[in-house]
Amino acid sequence: MSLSDPLTGAVHAATACDGKQRFETLRLAQQVLLRSKYSRPGRAAYRCQHCGGFHLGTSNRKKAAR
Ligand SMILES: [Zn+2]
Repeated sequence: MSLSDPLTGAVHAATACDGKQRFETLRLAQQVLLRSKYSRPGRAAYRCQHCGGFHLGTSNRKKAAR
């Protein structure tokens, strides 16, 4: 869980994105998602607010954390 720091409101990008595949564009992320074994119901590409790139994760678990 990567919750933002209550004091600074910031999340360290290196921590938030650690171990995640990063894609430059949403289209690329979606293409990789569809081709990989990672593709399954509930999975989706999403834009990362920490690094500005795109990661693959669960679409139904998206938190409104800033
Ligand atoms: Zn990221």
